[in-house]
Amino acid sequence: MRSLGPAIFTGTGLWRYAPVLPIADPAHRVTLGEGGTPLLDAPRLARDLGVRRLLVKFEGPNPTGTVKDRSSATAVGAALQFGYRATSVVSSGNAGSSIAAYAARAGLRALIFAYERASAPKLLHMAAATPDLIVYKGVYDDLITLWDRLVEERLFFDCGASRNAYKQDGKKTLAYEIAEQTGWAPPDVVVAPVAVGETFIATARAFREMHAAGWINHVPRLVAAQATRANAIVRAFRDGAPITPLKIGYTVAEGLAAGNPGKKGDRVLRLLREGKGLAGDAEDAEILDAQRRLARTEGVWAGPTGVAAVAVLLRLLARRELDPAQTICVIVSETGLKTEAEVPSRTGAAFDYDALRRLVVERLDAT
Ligand SMILES: *Cc1c(COP(=O)(O)O)cnc(C)c1O
Repeated sequence: MRSLGPAIFTGTGLWRYAPVLPIADPAHRVTLGEGGTPLLDAPRLARDLGVRRLLVKFEGPNPTGTVKDRSSATAVGAALQFGYRATSVVSSGNAGSSIAAYAARAGLRALIFAYERASAPKLLHMAAATPDLIVYKGVYDDLITLWDRLVEERLFFDCGASRNAYKQDGKKTLAYEIAEQTGWAPPDVVVAPVAVGETFIATARAFREMHAAGWINHVPRLVAAQATRANAIVRAFRDGAPITPLKIGYTVAEGLAAGNPGKKGDRVLRLLREGKGLAGDAEDAEILDAQRRLARTEGVWAGPTGVAAVAVLLRLLARRELDPAQTICVIVSETGLKTEAEVPSRTGAAFDYDALRRLVVERLDAT
Protein backbone atom coordinates (compact mmCIF):
# COMPACT_ATOMS: atom_id res chain seq x y z
CA MET A 1 0.00 0.00 0.00
CA ARG A 2 1.44 3.34 -1.01
CA SER A 3 0.28 6.29 1.03
CA LEU A 4 -0.39 9.51 -0.82
CA GLY A 5 0.92 11.64 2.01
CA PRO A 6 -0.86 14.68 3.31
CA ALA A 7 -1.12 17.75 1.10
CA ILE A 8 -1.81 19.98 4.11
CA PHE A 9 1.88 20.51 4.91
CA THR A 10 3.50 23.50 3.26
CA GLY A 11 6.66 25.52 3.79
CA THR A 12 9.85 24.26 5.44
CA GLY A 13 11.18 23.45 8.89
CA LEU A 14 9.13 22.78 12.00
CA TRP A 15 6.22 25.04 11.12
CA ARG A 16 5.64 23.04 7.94
CA TYR A 17 3.71 20.80 10.35
CA ALA A 18 1.68 23.67 11.86
CA PRO A 19 -1.62 21.94 10.91
CA VAL A 20 -0.86 19.26 13.53
CA LEU A 21 0.58 21.69 16.10
CA PRO A 22 -1.38 23.66 18.71
CA ILE A 23 -0.25 27.23 17.90
CA ALA A 24 -3.09 28.60 15.77
CA ASP A 25 -1.98 32.21 15.18
CA PRO A 26 1.00 32.52 12.80
CA ALA A 27 2.12 35.57 14.82
CA HIS A 28 2.89 33.21 17.73
CA ARG A 29 4.95 30.80 15.67
CA VAL A 30 8.38 31.77 16.92
CA THR A 31 11.22 30.40 14.82
CA LEU A 32 14.99 30.33 14.57
CA GLY A 33 14.93 27.94 11.64
CA GLU A 34 14.46 24.70 13.65
CA GLY A 35 13.47 21.36 12.17
CA GLY A 36 14.03 20.09 8.64
CA THR A 37 17.09 18.26 9.93
CA PRO A 38 18.72 15.59 7.75
CA LEU A 39 17.80 11.92 7.75
CA LEU A 40 21.11 10.39 6.75
CA ASP A 41 21.63 6.97 5.29
CA ALA A 42 24.58 5.52 7.24
CA PRO A 43 25.93 2.73 5.03
CA ARG A 44 29.42 2.50 6.54
CA LEU A 45 28.20 2.26 10.11
CA ALA A 46 25.48 -0.15 8.95
CA ARG A 47 28.09 -2.42 7.34
CA ASP A 48 30.18 -2.19 10.50
CA LEU A 49 27.22 -3.33 12.56
CA GLY A 50 25.92 -5.90 10.11
CA VAL A 51 22.64 -4.04 9.70
CA ARG A 52 20.86 -4.02 6.35
CA ARG A 53 19.90 -0.35 6.48
CA LEU A 54 20.64 2.27 9.11
CA LEU A 55 19.28 5.81 9.13
CA VAL A 56 20.49 8.61 11.37
CA LYS A 57 18.08 11.44 12.17
CA PHE A 58 20.61 14.09 13.12
CA GLU A 59 19.34 16.91 15.31
CA GLY A 60 22.69 18.72 15.50
CA PRO A 61 21.80 21.23 12.74
CA ASN A 62 19.00 22.78 14.86
CA PRO A 63 19.61 26.43 15.89
CA THR A 64 20.96 25.61 19.39
CA GLY A 65 22.28 22.23 18.32
CA THR A 66 19.69 19.92 19.87
CA VAL A 67 16.24 18.35 19.56
CA LYS A 68 15.11 20.79 22.30
CA ASP A 69 14.57 23.51 19.71
CA ARG A 70 11.49 21.66 18.48
CA SER A 71 9.86 21.78 21.92
CA SER A 72 11.07 25.32 22.58
CA ALA A 73 9.45 26.66 19.40
CA THR A 74 6.00 25.43 20.46
CA ALA A 75 6.50 26.06 24.21
CA VAL A 76 7.53 29.68 23.70
CA GLY A 77 4.80 29.98 21.06
CA ALA A 78 2.31 28.91 23.74
CA ALA A 79 3.76 31.47 26.19
CA LEU A 80 3.03 34.16 23.57
CA GLN A 81 -0.41 32.69 22.89
CA PHE A 82 -1.33 32.93 26.59
CA GLY A 83 0.17 36.39 27.02
CA TYR A 84 2.98 35.51 29.42
CA ARG A 85 6.00 37.81 29.69
CA ALA A 86 8.42 35.34 31.26
CA THR A 87 9.37 31.69 30.82
CA SER A 88 11.37 29.38 33.06
CA VAL A 89 12.91 25.91 32.96
CA VAL A 90 15.15 23.66 35.06
CA SER A 91 17.78 22.15 32.82
CA SER A 92 20.91 20.08 32.56
CA GLY A 93 21.92 22.51 29.81
CA ASN A 94 20.18 21.87 26.50
CA ALA A 95 16.65 22.90 27.44
CA GLY A 96 17.98 26.00 29.20
CA SER A 97 20.08 26.94 26.24
CA SER A 98 17.19 26.46 23.84
CA ILE A 99 14.45 28.15 25.90
CA ALA A 100 16.75 31.13 26.54
CA ALA A 101 17.29 31.53 22.79
CA TYR A 102 13.63 31.15 21.83
CA ALA A 103 12.45 33.44 24.64
CA ALA A 104 14.91 36.09 23.47
CA ARG A 105 13.65 35.65 19.92
CA ALA A 106 10.07 36.16 21.14
CA GLY A 107 10.94 39.14 23.36
CA LEU A 108 10.20 37.26 26.60
CA ARG A 109 12.26 36.89 29.76
CA ALA A 110 13.84 33.52 30.53
CA LEU A 111 14.70 32.42 34.05
CA ILE A 112 17.01 29.51 33.40
CA PHE A 113 18.04 27.14 36.18
CA ALA A 114 21.07 25.23 34.93
CA TYR A 115 22.89 22.17 36.26
CA GLU A 116 26.24 23.11 37.82
CA ARG A 117 28.05 20.47 35.75
CA ALA A 118 26.56 21.58 32.45
CA SER A 119 29.28 21.79 29.79
CA ALA A 120 31.08 25.12 29.38
CA PRO A 121 29.72 25.74 25.85
CA LYS A 122 26.14 25.29 27.14
CA LEU A 123 26.74 27.64 30.09
CA LEU A 124 28.36 30.20 27.79
CA HIS A 125 25.39 30.05 25.48
CA MET A 126 22.84 30.39 28.27
CA ALA A 127 24.71 33.28 29.87
CA ALA A 128 24.78 35.02 26.50
CA ALA A 129 21.09 34.45 25.75
CA THR A 130 19.60 35.51 29.10
CA PRO A 131 20.62 37.80 31.95
CA ASP A 132 18.67 35.48 34.27
CA LEU A 133 20.83 32.36 34.40
CA ILE A 134 20.87 30.67 37.81
CA VAL A 135 23.23 27.74 38.37
CA TYR A 136 21.86 25.14 40.81
CA LYS A 137 23.61 22.69 43.06
CA GLY A 138 23.07 18.96 42.64
CA VAL A 139 21.31 17.11 39.84
CA TYR A 140 18.08 17.84 37.96
CA ASP A 141 15.96 15.79 40.39
CA ASP A 142 17.17 17.87 43.37
CA LEU A 143 15.54 21.05 42.09
CA ILE A 144 12.70 19.94 39.87
CA THR A 145 10.27 19.00 42.67
CA LEU A 146 10.55 22.45 44.27
CA TRP A 147 10.34 24.19 40.91
CA ASP A 148 7.30 22.11 39.89
CA ARG A 149 5.55 23.32 43.07
CA LEU A 150 6.42 26.92 42.23
CA VAL A 151 4.91 26.53 38.76
CA GLU A 152 1.45 26.47 40.33
CA GLU A 153 1.76 30.16 41.26
CA ARG A 154 1.88 31.05 37.53
CA LEU A 155 4.66 33.60 37.95
CA PHE A 156 6.08 32.48 34.62
CA PHE A 157 5.17 30.18 31.76
CA ASP A 158 6.27 26.66 32.66
CA CYS A 159 8.72 25.40 30.04
CA GLY A 160 9.60 22.28 32.03
CA ALA A 161 9.05 18.74 30.87
CA SER A 162 6.67 17.57 33.61
CA ARG A 163 3.42 19.07 32.45
CA ASN A 164 3.79 21.48 29.57
CA ALA A 165 1.86 19.76 26.76
CA TYR A 166 2.98 22.32 24.18
CA LYS A 167 6.60 21.23 24.37
CA GLN A 168 5.80 17.67 23.50
CA ASP A 169 3.75 18.76 20.51
CA GLY A 170 6.78 20.42 18.95
CA LYS A 171 8.78 17.21 19.26
CA LYS A 172 6.15 15.34 17.25
CA THR A 173 7.67 16.98 14.17
CA LEU A 174 10.69 14.71 14.52
CA ALA A 175 8.53 11.70 13.61
CA TYR A 176 6.63 13.65 10.94
CA GLU A 177 9.94 14.45 9.28
CA ILE A 178 11.18 10.85 9.49
CA ALA A 179 7.94 9.73 7.82
CA GLU A 180 8.05 12.37 5.12
CA GLN A 181 11.78 11.87 4.45
CA THR A 182 11.19 8.15 3.88
CA GLY A 183 8.37 8.86 1.42
CA TRP A 184 5.72 7.99 4.07
CA ALA A 185 7.19 4.49 4.41
CA PRO A 186 8.82 4.80 7.85
CA PRO A 187 11.58 2.52 9.15
CA ASP A 188 10.78 -0.71 11.02
CA VAL A 189 12.50 0.44 14.19
CA VAL A 190 13.18 3.89 15.71
CA VAL A 191 15.66 4.19 18.59
CA ALA A 192 15.05 7.31 20.71
CA PRO A 193 16.94 8.75 23.69
CA VAL A 194 14.95 8.99 26.93
CA ALA A 195 15.48 11.29 29.92
CA VAL A 196 11.95 11.95 31.21
CA GLY A 197 10.46 10.66 27.97
CA GLU A 198 9.14 13.73 26.19
CA THR A 199 10.87 12.90 22.89
CA PHE A 200 9.86 9.26 23.09
CA ILE A 201 6.19 9.98 23.88
CA ALA A 202 5.97 12.63 21.16
CA THR A 203 7.49 10.23 18.62
CA ALA A 204 5.08 7.44 19.57
CA ARG A 205 2.10 9.82 19.46
CA ALA A 206 3.07 11.25 16.08
CA PHE A 207 3.47 7.85 14.41
CA ARG A 208 0.09 6.77 15.81
CA GLU A 209 -1.53 9.98 14.55
CA MET A 210 -0.07 9.50 11.08
CA HIS A 211 -1.23 5.90 11.05
CA ALA A 212 -4.75 6.87 12.12
CA ALA A 213 -4.82 9.50 9.35
CA GLY A 214 -3.81 6.84 6.80
CA TRP A 215 -0.56 8.60 5.91
CA ILE A 216 1.65 5.65 6.87
CA ASN A 217 0.80 1.97 6.81
CA HIS A 218 2.68 0.85 9.89
CA VAL A 219 3.85 2.27 13.21
CA PRO A 220 7.59 1.65 13.78
CA ARG A 221 8.69 -0.36 16.77
CA LEU A 222 10.12 2.09 19.30
CA VAL A 223 13.24 1.51 21.39
CA ALA A 224 13.87 3.61 24.51
CA ALA A 225 17.57 4.36 25.03
CA GLN A 226 19.03 5.49 28.36
CA ALA A 227 22.42 5.91 30.00
CA THR A 228 23.10 3.07 32.45
CA ARG A 229 23.77 5.66 35.14
CA ALA A 230 20.23 7.05 34.69
CA ASN A 231 18.28 3.97 33.63
CA ALA A 232 15.12 4.02 35.78
CA ILE A 233 12.84 3.24 32.83
CA VAL A 234 15.03 0.49 31.37
CA ARG A 235 15.20 -1.26 34.76
CA ALA A 236 11.44 -1.13 35.22
CA PHE A 237 10.93 -2.47 31.68
CA ARG A 238 13.38 -5.34 32.22
CA ASP A 239 11.91 -6.27 35.59
CA GLY A 240 8.30 -5.92 34.46
CA ALA A 241 7.87 -3.62 37.46
CA PRO A 242 6.82 -0.01 38.11
CA ILE A 243 9.50 2.69 37.98
CA THR A 244 11.63 3.10 41.09
CA PRO A 245 13.26 6.56 41.07
CA LEU A 246 17.05 6.38 41.12
CA LYS A 247 19.49 8.57 42.96
CA ILE A 248 21.92 9.42 40.21
CA GLY A 249 25.28 11.10 40.00
CA TYR A 250 27.12 12.12 36.86
CA THR A 251 26.85 10.61 33.41
CA VAL A 252 28.57 11.90 30.27
CA ALA A 253 25.08 11.88 28.73
CA GLU A 254 24.23 14.89 30.87
CA GLY A 255 20.93 15.54 29.08
CA LEU A 256 19.72 12.09 30.10
CA ALA A 257 20.54 12.55 33.79
CA ALA A 258 17.02 12.25 35.20
CA GLY A 259 16.62 9.67 37.96
CA ASN A 260 12.93 10.29 38.47
CA PRO A 261 11.05 10.48 35.17
CA GLY A 262 7.70 10.93 36.95
CA LYS A 263 4.39 10.53 35.13
CA LYS A 264 6.03 10.78 31.71
CA GLY A 265 8.24 7.84 32.63
CA ASP A 266 5.12 5.81 33.47
CA ARG A 267 3.71 6.77 30.09
CA VAL A 268 6.91 5.63 28.30
CA LEU A 269 6.70 2.30 30.10
CA ARG A 270 3.05 1.88 29.10
CA LEU A 271 3.83 2.71 25.47
CA LEU A 272 6.73 0.23 25.46
CA ARG A 273 4.56 -2.53 26.87
CA GLU A 274 1.56 -1.85 24.60
CA GLY A 275 3.61 -1.35 21.43
CA LYS A 276 5.98 -4.33 21.79
CA GLY A 277 8.76 -1.83 22.24
CA LEU A 278 12.20 -2.42 23.63
CA ALA A 279 14.43 -0.59 26.12
CA GLY A 280 18.17 -0.63 26.55
CA ASP A 281 21.00 1.27 28.20
CA ALA A 282 24.71 1.90 27.71
CA GLU A 283 27.62 2.70 30.02
CA ASP A 284 29.47 6.03 29.71
CA ALA A 285 32.50 4.32 28.12
CA GLU A 286 30.28 2.73 25.46
CA ILE A 287 28.67 6.10 24.76
CA LEU A 288 32.05 7.78 24.25
CA ASP A 289 33.11 4.90 22.01
CA ALA A 290 29.94 5.24 19.92
CA GLN A 291 30.61 8.98 19.66
CA ARG A 292 34.00 8.38 18.02
CA ARG A 293 32.67 5.56 15.89
CA LEU A 294 29.82 7.66 14.46
CA ALA A 295 32.22 10.54 13.76
CA ARG A 296 34.75 8.30 12.00
CA THR A 297 32.37 6.14 9.99
CA GLU A 298 29.85 8.78 8.96
CA GLY A 299 31.28 12.20 9.84
CA VAL A 300 28.45 12.90 12.28
CA TRP A 301 29.81 14.63 15.39
CA ALA A 302 27.31 14.30 18.20
CA GLY A 303 27.53 14.99 21.92
CA PRO A 304 27.37 12.12 24.44
CA THR A 305 23.68 12.77 25.19
CA GLY A 306 22.96 12.79 21.48
CA VAL A 307 24.83 9.59 20.74
CA ALA A 308 23.63 7.49 23.68
CA ALA A 309 20.95 5.97 21.44
CA VAL A 310 23.66 4.75 19.04
CA ALA A 311 25.54 3.10 21.93
CA VAL A 312 22.32 1.39 23.01
CA LEU A 313 21.68 0.25 19.44
CA LEU A 314 25.20 -1.28 19.32
CA ARG A 315 24.48 -3.23 22.49
CA LEU A 316 21.06 -4.47 21.41
CA LEU A 317 22.47 -5.66 18.08
CA ALA A 318 25.39 -7.41 19.77
CA ARG A 319 22.88 -9.20 22.00
CA ARG A 320 20.65 -10.02 19.03
CA GLU A 321 17.70 -8.28 20.62
CA LEU A 322 17.08 -6.46 17.33
CA ASP A 323 16.76 -7.96 13.86
CA PRO A 324 19.61 -6.67 11.63
CA ALA A 325 17.51 -7.34 8.50
CA GLN A 326 15.16 -4.51 9.45
CA THR A 327 15.53 -0.84 8.61
CA ILE A 328 16.60 0.91 11.78
CA CYS A 329 16.50 4.66 12.40
CA VAL A 330 18.41 6.11 15.33
CA ILE A 331 17.75 9.60 16.67
CA VAL A 332 21.03 11.42 17.29
CA SER A 333 19.71 14.30 19.34
CA GLU A 334 22.53 16.85 19.71
CA THR A 335 25.64 18.27 18.11
CA GLY A 336 29.08 17.43 19.49
CA LEU A 337 30.08 21.08 19.34
CA LYS A 338 28.57 21.81 22.77
CA THR A 339 30.54 19.07 24.49
CA GLU A 340 33.22 19.82 27.04
CA ALA A 341 36.02 17.31 27.21
CA GLU A 342 39.74 16.90 27.55
CA VAL A 343 41.46 18.27 24.42
CA PRO A 344 43.39 15.38 22.74
CA SER A 345 46.76 17.22 22.68
CA ARG A 346 47.89 20.75 22.10
CA THR A 347 51.57 19.94 21.67
CA GLY A 348 52.32 21.15 18.18
CA ALA A 349 55.00 19.92 15.80
CA ALA A 350 57.23 22.13 13.62
CA PHE A 351 58.13 20.95 10.11
CA ASP A 352 60.57 21.52 7.32
CA TYR A 353 59.54 20.26 3.85
CA ASP A 354 61.21 16.82 4.14
CA ALA A 355 59.80 16.12 7.60
CA LEU A 356 56.35 17.15 6.42
CA ARG A 357 56.54 14.95 3.32
CA ARG A 358 57.80 11.97 5.34
CA LEU A 359 54.90 12.30 7.75
CA VAL A 360 52.27 12.46 5.01
CA VAL A 361 53.72 9.44 3.18
CA GLU A 362 53.96 7.46 6.42
CA ARG A 363 50.39 8.23 7.42
CA LEU A 364 48.93 7.37 4.03
CA ASP A 365 50.94 4.15 3.81
CA ALA A 366 49.81 2.97 7.21
CA THR A 367 46.88 0.60 7.06
C1 LIG B 1 16.47 16.50 26.54
C2 LIG B 1 17.21 15.68 25.62
C3 LIG B 1 16.82 14.38 25.25
C4 LIG B 1 15.63 13.63 25.70
O1 LIG B 1 14.98 14.01 26.81
P1 LIG B 1 13.44 13.70 27.05
O2 LIG B 1 13.14 14.53 28.24
O3 LIG B 1 13.34 12.24 27.33
O4 LIG B 1 12.72 14.10 25.85
C5 LIG B 1 17.59 13.72 24.33
N1 LIG B 1 18.69 14.26 23.80
C6 LIG B 1 19.07 15.50 24.09
C7 LIG B 1 20.29 16.03 23.45
C8 LIG B 1 18.36 16.25 25.01
O5 LIG B 1 18.79 17.49 25.27
